[in-house]
Amino acid sequence: MPKSKKQLTQCAVRIGYGWDSHEFKAGVPLKIGGITLPHSHGLGGHSDGDVLLHALTDALLGALAAPDRGTLFSPSDAKWKGADSALFLLEALKRVKAAGYSIANVDSTLILLAPKIGPHAAAIRARLAELLGIAPDCIGIKAKTPEGMGTDNAAIAHAVVLLQLDTGRKSGQSKARKK
Ligand SMILES: [Zn+2]
Repeated sequence: MPKSKKQLTQCAVRIGYGWDSHEFKAGVPLKIGGITLPHSHGLGGHSDGDVLLHALTDALLGALAAPDRGTLFSPSDAKWKGADSALFLLEALKRVKAAGYSIANVDSTLILLAPKIGPHAAAIRARLAELLGIAPDCIGIKAKTPEGMGTDNAAIAHAVVLLQLDTGRKSGQSKARKK
């Protein structure tokens, strides 16, 4: 094993989990799962506030035991102000592929009072499928309201992802097959 770069232990599967929350804010577009939903309020935050993409990004990074999103894309860095959160997700995905893994499936739960996610779930799933390069039926989108949690002014997202080691790739090949 080269000393310069520590290779990730290539277990057959790796699970990752991510969580995020953002407060609703007037005057900004509501971005959830990479699409803009019609609503009176958006989500505040340094980037575009896409709570679902943030949770998914952290799930991917967590599966790789990589530093989390806040470490890789520091909120104090002006570069990420208003950034499209798809950039974060795609960077995490790049790391997944470089480590020799692909995504088996993802599942997620959104917790927010409004708007209703059901009518938009198919569009969110389609956008995530496009971003992640997996089939829409490998993506779970669930939503519920925050009963008794006192978080009516926030949107919360939980996400889990399962990575599988790419078949036919042995340890060390990831470096040779640089893209
Ligand atoms: Zn966030």
